[in-house]
Amino acid sequence: MKQLVVLGGKGGTGKTTVVAALAQLMATEGRLVLADADVDAPNLGLLLAPEVLYGERFVGGSEAVIDETACIGCGTCQDVCRYDAVLATDGVYTVDAIACEGCAACHYACPAGCIDMEPAESGEWYRSMTRLGDLVHARLFAGQENSGKLVSLVRHQAQVLAQDRDARWVLIDGSPGIGCPVIAAVTGADLALMVAEPTVSGQHDLDRVLGVAAHFRVPAAVVINKGDINPGRSAEIEAYCRERDLPMLGVLPYDDAAMAAMRQGRTVTEASDGPLAQALRGLWAVLKPMLGQ
Ligand code: SF4
Ligand code: SF4
Repeated sequence: MKQLVVLGGKGGTGKTTVVAALAQLMATEGRLVLADADVDAPNLGLLLAPEVLYGERFVGGSEAVIDETACIGCGTCQDVCRYDAVLATDGVYTVDAIACEGCAACHYACPAGCIDMEPAESGEWYRSMTRLGDLVHARLFAGQENSGKLVSLVRHQAQVLAQDRDARWVLIDGSPGIGCPVIAAVTGADLALMVAEPTVSGQHDLDRVLGVAAHFRVPAAVVINKGDINPGRSAEIEAYCRERDLPMLGVLPYDDAAMAAMRQGRTVTEASDGPLAQALRGLWAVLKPMLGQ
């Protein structure tokens, strides 16, 4: 079983369009498990209309809870809280669960010993079935952090499922940025595919995400999306890859078919035989041997 993670620096690079098309092409050749590691804004599910088979709450940290009956109203908790999470209304002290970071400073400082640290549910994860195969996905509740931990959980569950199903591939839709969720999405993958957009910020993002992959010793390859929109910048990214011996797997053209397919809830390769669909088929043809398949 091989694991391919697709990353895009920031949102809007067309990463999910690429992931969905690759999923469709992979699924025609072997058993696939999909993992949506973008837990802050999961949208692979929107495209694949998953049927949820199992769901579970995710406890990613803790939050302070004040026992009002034992509180002596000294205000120490409010003084020590660096996140302004302790509220005082008419002398009654309570904790704003959204603002609480679970640092436990108030718990240790309270002279009355009336602040407990309790597990905080910060999201949910699901195991679902889609027309292209199993999907493990998750949702982080608004205002919650710990997305790195939730991505690790999604990755783990996808691997367990892939082993159970004797799947040939795990395809991971990675999170944007370079923080904990990306690290959790990349770690242990067999190959990281970077979807770069031909802009100044796209080139900068590419550099930073490649740094994460290199740090975790995950081989990387690059594909440029909408390369024809800015051929000059696209050529610069190609030169950047050549200088670093990074496999450049192709330049995908801008194609209205991407948006049309999205609106229909289909992948580009299902909905179109146009230039983008053909370029994506070409991308899969070169990716597959890189996965040792
Ligand atoms: S646990 Fe930390 S963040 Fe939460 S209320 Fe206490 S001091 Fe504030
Ligand atoms: S520190 Fe403890 S006793 Fe003092 S106000 Fe906060 S909860 Fe109440």
